[in-house]
Amino acid sequence: VRVEVVPETGSTNADLLARAPLLSEALLLVAEHQTAGRGRAGRSWLSSSEHSLTFSLAWKFDGGPQLLAGLPLAVGVALGEALAALGVQVQLKWPNDVLKDGAKLAGILIETQSAPPAQGGGTWAVIGIGLNLVMPDEVEARLGRSAAGAPWLARMERDVLMAALLDALAEALRLFARQGFAPFCARWNLRHAWQGQTVVILDHGQVVQEGLAAGVDDSGRLLLDTAHGRSTVLAGDVSLRVK
Ligand code: ATP
Repeated sequence: VRVEVVPETGSTNADLLARAPLLSEALLLVAEHQTAGRGRAGRSWLSSSEHSLTFSLAWKFDGGPQLLAGLPLAVGVALGEALAALGVQVQLKWPNDVLKDGAKLAGILIETQSAPPAQGGGTWAVIGIGLNLVMPDEVEARLGRSAAGAPWLARMERDVLMAALLDALAEALRLFARQGFAPFCARWNLRHAWQGQTVVILDHGQVVQEGLAAGVDDSGRLLLDTAHGRSTVLAGDVSLRVK
């Protein structure tokens, strides 16, 4: 995987989406400072240069984007296991967040686009990750206790941390390309933040379902035990809250 570090950019995801059609191999883009970080559905990701790690990885998969539905969860597993190996225990919130003690330590945003025929077709996934090291005051003021840092990681050499995460991610992406989400299912459920808790599913701010969170199935859909039996929830643009 080729690695590029830039001092500052708006969004590493936006940069790699623009560059993907010209790439000949996977590329990791690390921004020392990201000024317009993105979340899902137009939300934003806040970060500051000294206190966060922000990067995106462009990776090409065979086949169409529908095969990548479980990818954010597989990436969560890879991050969770890598962080645990570095001494930071985290939990996973469906579909795309990494929590520490119930607060968001890292966010994952995956955007896809089809690869041109000249690249042999397939789909580029741009996997963006923002990881809080220390919670900067300005972010804390805006997000309050819903965001967490990991001071232990902040004390590590930044490049060593990045290399450990890249190793774990590349290994997970290779496995996902061969076998999809299935080999990650049990590993995700082991770290499920809200297992057995009552949760609600929000669609555009409206509660559309309520039930006990029962983990994910082997395509990464959330299993919900509701008053009407078990239902499965597709990630799409829904959000999850503990009730
Ligand atoms: P939801 O939080 O509604 O379930 P989500 O988890 O999909 O949605 P994302 O779109 O992945 O949220 O991330 C964007 C959200 O994360 C922002 O709306 C904000 O609430 C929160 N956020 C932004 N910056 C940070 C940060 N540095 N640390 C923790 N949380 C952040």
